[in-house]
Amino acid sequence: MPPRLPIRNVPSVEGPVRYKVGNMDVAVISDGYIKLDAGAVMGLIPRVMWEPVLGKDNLDAEYRMRLGLNCMVARSGEDVLLVDTGIGNKLSGAARERAFPGDTGKLLDGLAALGLTPADITVVANTHLHADHCGWNTVRDQDGTVRPTFPNARYYIQKGEYEAAMHPNDRTRGTYFAENFEPLVASGQLELVEGEVEIMPGAHFWATPGHTWDHASIALSSAGQTAIYTGDLVHHAVQVERPAWIAAFDVFPLTSLESKKKLAERALRENALLICVHNPFPGVGRLTERDGRRTFVTE
Ligand SMILES: [Zn+2]
Repeated sequence: MPPRLPIRNVPSVEGPVRYKVGNMDVAVISDGYIKLDAGAVMGLIPRVMWEPVLGKDNLDAEYRMRLGLNCMVARSGEDVLLVDTGIGNKLSGAARERAFPGDTGKLLDGLAALGLTPADITVVANTHLHADHCGWNTVRDQDGTVRPTFPNARYYIQKGEYEAAMHPNDRTRGTYFAENFEPLVASGQLELVEGEVEIMPGAHFWATPGHTWDHASIALSSAGQTAIYTGDLVHHAVQVERPAWIAAFDVFPLTSLESKKKLAERALRENALLICVHNPFPGVGRLTERDGRRTFVTE
């Protein structure tokens, strides 16, 4: 059995972990972690099935599991791409503790550990606009002003996702916060795109609907190698091994099922490095298949 992604004894601040994808330098950095109800993460799957997978030690007394906030940095030529931006620093302590208990707000420390300042980032992409994926898009200054965190970046967001975020419904309102994306309009940095466009040489949006209708993963391709930043297509790597394990957070679960099958096929075909945002840091591994059984092996 491969290691089962321990969540105990994980330090709250993790240094960057570096990978090579073809000629591309890739790093995973962390904005910290949050703790969410494990039953919600596992959706319809009963506890008797998921508890042995997670391990009792990795659940707290309230059956919450630790979810990483893993973000990806990739370099191509002059470009420095940041994919997803964690929770950020704008939520008040009480609001954050209610919705996203944990230890968050570390992303800029992770960039600094890579020798990068916010001004060095030239491209930002969000898989979707839920609050735990775009928080550092903007920053609140001491005078209360909210401004883009990355002054020299173009921010790529799927147009349909932006529209969903601007017009939330009763189910989605609690996680779409306009201050995470509206200031990008005023600053002229927002690039709304549709479909599988290239956002940096070798980096493409890859449509993976289900968690939200316009959710998109990011695929990196270089010298015959592939890495895929899954976004919330996957909340825990067991959901790649078993596509029918679908988080209750997914707005379109049957669409998510099809997208996850597509992900698994591509991951096997291209031996892709998978970067799972919510796995314990760094959440990186590959899918293997043996005797019809699929296993996510961490790297
Ligand atoms: Zn998420």
